[in-house]
Amino acid sequence: MRATRWITDLRHFMTVGGRLVSDRRTSLPAYLSMVVEAATARPAGSWVPSPIRCYRRPGRKGCQGRIHVYRAESPDLVEWACPACGAFGIITGWEASRWDLQDAWTQPPVRGHTPSHEVELSDDEYTALRSCTELMREHRVTVVRAIFRDGRIVLSGSSGEACSEAREVVPRPEEGPRASPCA
Ligand SMILES: [Zn+2]
Repeated sequence: MRATRWITDLRHFMTVGGRLVSDRRTSLPAYLSMVVEAATARPAGSWVPSPIRCYRRPGRKGCQGRIHVYRAESPDLVEWACPACGAFGIITGWEASRWDLQDAWTQPPVRGHTPSHEVELSDDEYTALRSCTELMREHRVTVVRAIFRDGRIVLSGSSGEACSEAREVVPRPEEGPRASPCA
């Protein structure tokens, strides 16, 4: 399959107030902002398999690939690649936007916290968490740093607290939509 290369400037998808433009015809702005969060919430210099689904719809059928993300330093660039369809892209213009989480992971770890608690999420749970605006910032960082490993979505954090708080706000079917702050 022929690879497609996408070069996008996130500012072209933002309003003057710094929010995403809303366009029902395309999910591209939301896709780009998710990739930027996933790439900037971790140190630069290595490719990471994220749970984010490929944006492309070759032949009108959604690509089943999960996007790998990368952040380069000097110049600051976010890159993404789909291992399934071969599409790859570069995103610029995200610095200092609300999706730039570079400052979030440079904070020193809290003393006494043991590293690496892991929680597995379903696709629905991950999607719900990604669209949740009620999460504390540090817990949002935990969510956007989720990886896709062995066919599973894995959250890991320096404490179990972020993982379990993130998990708790996931809407449960039996609770009905109003029980969740993210509904
Ligand atoms: Zn793809």
